Parts: sequence; C-alpha cells; structure tokens
Amino acid sequence: KRATYMALRDKEPISLDGTRIALNINAGLRDDVGMLKLTGADGIGLFRTEFQFLVAATMPGRAGQLRLYRDVLDAAGDKPVIFRTVDIGGDKPLPYFQASEVREENPAMGWRALRIGLERDALMKVQARALLEASAGRKLNVMFPMIAEPWEFDEAKAVFEKQLAFLKDRKKQLPISIRYGAMLEVPALAECLDLIAPRLDFLSIGTNDLTQFLFAADRSNPKLAERFDWLSPAILRYLRRIARQADSLGVELSVCGEMGGRTLDALALLGLGIRRLSITPASVGPIKAMIRSVNLEDISAFMEDHLSSPITDSRTALEKWAQERKIDLG
Ligand code: PEP
Ligand code: MG
Repeated sequence: KRATYMALRDKEPISLDGTRIALNINAGLRDDVGMLKLTGADGIGLFRTEFQFLVAATMPGRAGQLRLYRDVLDAAGDKPVIFRTVDIGGDKPLPYFQASEVREENPAMGWRALRIGLERDALMKVQARALLEASAGRKLNVMFPMIAEPWEFDEAKAVFEKQLAFLKDRKKQLPISIRYGAMLEVPALAECLDLIAPRLDFLSIGTNDLTQFLFAADRSNPKLAERFDWLSPAILRYLRRIARQADSLGVELSVCGEMGGRTLDALALLGLGIRRLSITPASVGPIKAMIRSVNLEDISAFMEDHLSSPITDSRTALEKWAQERKIDLG
C-alpha cells in the first residue's frame, strides 16, 4: 500500500469525471514542511502557529516567530502556506501564560484563540508583524480561528492592516499580496455567511471544533469519542448547506478538520460539494487514491438521495455504496 501511495505522489487528485480537487496538508512544525515534497500536496492549508508556543518554555517573541515563519515559507518554496493565528487556551493551555483570570468550567468554549488575541492585542500585534515581515516580497495567507461573528474577523484583520501601514511608513519591503480567511468552527458563523463573505478571501471549516459545538460534545472526552459520528445527518446536512451557500456567494471553501483525512468521510465531503481539503500528511496518498476512483456526479446524487431520508446509518449506507462502485477506500 505504501509503495502505491508513493507512486501516486506525482499524480493529480482528479476524479473520474475530471474534477481537480485541491489537496493540502496540515502542519505545525518546521519539519512538517518537508511533507509537501514527500506527498506531492498542493500546499499547507493549515499551519497551526500555536505549536511553537506549546513547545516553548516562555512566550515566543517576534524574532523567534519571524524565524519560524520565514523558514516555513523558504521550505515551502512556491507552494502556498496558510498560517493560522495562535489558537491557544481551550484544549491547548500554555503553562507560562495564564489565559484567564477566572477558572473556566468549559475551556473549549472559553477564553481561547482569537478571543485572547483581540483582548491581549500585544500578542496579536507581535504575530502580525512577524508574519508580515516573514512574507516580505512573497504572498501571505492568514486565517483566524474561532470566529463566531463577522466583527471579530474585521478586528483581527485591522490588527494586520495597522502593522502593514507601520511597515509601509518605514519603507520596509511588504508582502506582494495578503489573503485573509476565517475558520468556520463555531456554528454561529454559518448563520452570517452572507455578511462575512464580502470581507474575506477564503473560508475553512474546522470540523473538529465544529462537531464538538454542534453536538455539544467535548472533543477531548474519550467517553464521547465514539458516540457521535462525522457521518451523521446533522453534520452532513449542515456542511451541505455551508458548501451551497459558499458556492453561491463565490467564497473559496475548504475543510481542514480531521474528517477530511478519512477516506469514507472525505468521500461524503466530495458528495456535499467540498472541493478543497487540508489533511494530515499521512492521509494524502489514501485520499488521492479515493478521489481518483470516484465519479463526483454519482456521489453527489447518492448523498442527495441519502440525506433526503437517512433511514439507515450514513456510514453503513455510504460504505455499501462505495464497495458496490469499487471506490478505493484504502
Ligand atoms: C478544527 O477545529 O477542526 C481545526 C482544524 O483546528 P484544531 O483542530 O487545531 O482546533
Ligand atoms: Mg479548531
């Protein structure tokens, strides 16, 4: 199997009916970037910048951040990298930074990610400067986590634009382009897609957090891990609605949660109209093989039919369908 996936490295992720799917990888460390070459992925769809914070003994400063971002961009070459601003707090507490003054009963729904960044704006300013400087003369893609309402996106973007103006004033070399995106992982944002769409350049669904919030089920609680399935009508219908709306609004949409890295789940995503995935590097081979064995029109028709009256469990139904059609599920 491994050899088969290696052989697929230079093959395109194109479906049987000829649609090119964007296949990116998730990363968080400098060394992960080497996976771009090994897998033949299109780029990095999610660079989790908080990893540097999690492995450090003290808060990383601007110079340390700048060095990492520059190294990552150097190593990625002409493949695009989407940097996500720090997602600390929640399930990723920092020992050297007391995120909240109050004891949090529900840290995942608490003071985390952009909520910290917008209030402790020194943190966000430093990161914005480091990202802008690292991208001098190159393209910068930034993505903000845990956006619940459009104004949070505006404020986060404003922090970057202010730092950009500062660098411009000082005649520093600037990025040749900047694209700003939001993660859709808080269900509320889906109700405001039409409001946020004109302001952003891309949207990426974080199915890990989205599922946790949609089912009100802690993603890190092992007792709940088996209880809810990504292939459930609630998730699938929800994602279908987002995919349709993004399509009609002309918003570039991708999925960067772990769901996209499982062959059967990714097959369902294709059937819902998702055309861009960002996945764990080890999944690129199997997902590419799956894409190359499927006809998108067929899977879309199946999902449509199934979701109109999902009487059997979706996983079993989809598995049966895929086996009958000899879809490569790894
Ligand atoms: C997600 O929530 O789906 C996601 C991609 O981000 P993280 O897993 O880092 O929270
Ligand atoms: Mg998340």
